[in-house]
Formats: sequence, structure tokens, C-alpha cells
Amino acid sequence: MAHPTLDWIDRELARLSDAGLRRALEPIGPRQGAEVEVRGRRLVNLCSNDYLGLAGDERVMKAAAEAALAEGAGSGASRLVAGDLPIHGRLEIALAGLHRAEAALLFNSGYHANAGVPAVLVGREDAVFSDELNHASIIDGGLLSRADLQRYRHGDAEELSGLLARSTARRKLVITDAVFSMDGDAAPLADLADACQRHGAMLYVDEAHAVGVLGPTGAGLAEQLGLKHRVDVEMGTLGKALGAFGAYVAGQARLRELLLTRARTFVFTTALPPAACGAALRALEIVRTEPARRERLHALIAHMRAGLQARGFDVSRVVSPIFPVVLGSEARALATAAGLRERGFYVRAIRPPTVPRGTSRLRVALTAGHQPAQLDAFLGALDEVLAGLPLSAAG
Ligand code: PMP
Repeated sequence: MAHPTLDWIDRELARLSDAGLRRALEPIGPRQGAEVEVRGRRLVNLCSNDYLGLAGDERVMKAAAEAALAEGAGSGASRLVAGDLPIHGRLEIALAGLHRAEAALLFNSGYHANAGVPAVLVGREDAVFSDELNHASIIDGGLLSRADLQRYRHGDAEELSGLLARSTARRKLVITDAVFSMDGDAAPLADLADACQRHGAMLYVDEAHAVGVLGPTGAGLAEQLGLKHRVDVEMGTLGKALGAFGAYVAGQARLRELLLTRARTFVFTTALPPAACGAALRALEIVRTEPARRERLHALIAHMRAGLQARGFDVSRVVSPIFPVVLGSEARALATAAGLRERGFYVRAIRPPTVPRGTSRLRVALTAGHQPAQLDAFLGALDEVLAGLPLSAAG
């Protein structure tokens, strides 16, 4: 059946294609890991957030299956209706334990948490202060809260302090990624916490890319810097280093009580399925009992950082498995990703609006399962591809 009212979509898609901004799905082989199958070829996988290699770990997958067999394929309803299963409570206790917090509350994804939590903490009479490179879900959450949304320069606690000082808002909420998802660097948490303290602001930290990766027990950046007691809202995800799916907020018990009553992205959605919770519980146990995985990942991070720095890429601030290989134009980033793929490396080009215009890049992500030799081979292939790029893909 014709839908002429949708004809504008053809024009919009053509415009996006012409601008190099059209996105496409690409099915990958049946599991995550250091290698992945794409269109029938095995490639070194450099674009997953499965930093500890747990998404394809047999023990984690088995725990998912066992949880589904014990508690059901689906949770059947919202937690507040008839969906509050035993495994949800068990997982929240384990997550509160990881963060040494009074309590934790599960959300269905990091996107749900960031989209829904700010609106509980602030409203029209209030203000949200957000790092300019914060994840899109934080920006959406800020907008949904209807508070005055102010952005400060990336990592600039001084600018933040000035904004806080001038604000006459009733409540002030500062939100930052712990590790920035497209740059791999860390927020200056101590300085942000100082600014918050001086100006009576709440501090909300998104540990999505830091949980399992940073801190002596893998609890994230706040743990690594000894600042847990100064963070009011610690949000983490289960779908990255923990290899499962879902997210949570850890903090005071009264915060949990208010969130479970008021956060629309908690109240109005079906609870996480038991399989995701079972996988996350087993992954947390592995994070606790196998610190060697984290140590191995950090050795690989040091190896990659040295290799990219030797080639002139500015990665000195990277503290995580995420390396921005900034190439400039969309065309250059796309051509480099294509050349690397021909040579056996799966890396995606990241373009606006995910990153600022003119900073299109490869986002190279490591997992504990990589071998140093694979990283060396990648660096060699990058040299070849960049040397061979036509002028039309320059700059
Ligand atoms: N926060 C950050 C910093 C992220 O990078 C992401 C996802 N890439 C999210 C939140 C969203 O988490 P989820 O994938 O669980 O929705």
C-alpha cells in the first residue's frame, strides 16, 4: 500500500547519505569476543563495550539460562505491579555491595536510567549542569526534567563552578560521565565534587564505561579516586563490562525509595528479564574473584596508548579501553574504517551527532581477551590505511 504522506522520508534519507551521516545496521556473528564474524569473515573486534570479555563467557551465559529456567523468560509486568522477582532483589543487593552503597535500584538500560532519574531530582525551578561531552541519554534526561539545562566545557570544573555560583535555581544537579564514551578520558571528579560542595549541588556520575574497569574492586571511577562518599547518585550499566543487559542507580536508601515511586522510566516499563539479571549476578562474581582480567585489560590499554601516541594521536588522557582515533571528516573516518576492515579489523567510524563536527573518528575499544599481537597488527594496518588514503578523504 502506498503511503504518500511518508514520501519525505526518501528525501531525508538521501540527504543523510549525501552528508555521510546515514547509519546502517550490520549483523555480526553469534557472539561477542576478541574476534567476531561479519559477513562470513572473522575480524578482530575493536568496537564492543564487552571490556572484560564476559558477554560470551560460558559461565555468564549459563547463569542467564539458569535464571530464565528458574524465574521465567519474561518478568511479566512492571516491578511495581507483579514483576518484582526474587532475582531483582538479589541483584540489587549485589550492586549495592559493589558500590558500598545503602541501596541500588535496577533500570532496564542505561538509557532508561539517565532519561528518567534527573526528572525525579530536579524540575522547572531547578538547573542541570552537564559536561558538553556527556552521553546523549544524559542530555535527554536533562531535557525531560524541564530544568534549566546548562552545559560546561568538557572537564572544566572551573567553568562549572562559575555557572553554579551564578545560578539562582532552587536545586542544582551536576551530571557527568565518569569515563567519556567517545573519548575514553575521565571526569575530574574531585574538582567537580568540590564545586558541588561549595555551591550545594547534587553530583550524579554515570559509571557506564568505568564499572568493571576502574577501581580496586572494579566499582568504577569514584572508587578509584576514593570519592564514593562525595557522589550522590552513582549510575552504572550491566551491558558493557558486565556482559549482560540493564542498569542501576546506587546510593542512599531514601534515594532508591523516591526513584522507585517517581522515576517514570522505572514505573512504566516491564521489569528486566531474569536472564539478564542472572548473567549480571554471575558477572559481578567474576569481577570480584578474577581481578586478573582487569589487570590484563589495563596492560592492553597501556600497550595501545603507547602505540597510538607513537603515531601522533592524542590519547594521553585515555584511562579506559576506549581510544579515540580522531581523523576529522566523516569521509576520512569512513574510509579508514573500510580500509581496516579489508585488513581484518572491525572498527566503526563515529560521526556527528555522536561526536562534534570535524572530530569524526574511529572509536577503538579493547577487551581483556585481545592479544598484544592483535593490537600491534591493528596499528600496522592503521599505518598502511592512513598512508594510502586518497586526497578526497583527507582532513
Ligand atoms: N551512559 C553512557 C556513558 C553510555 O555510553 C551509554 C551507552 N553507550 C549509556 C549510558 C546507555 O546505556 P545502555 O546501553 O545500557 O542503554
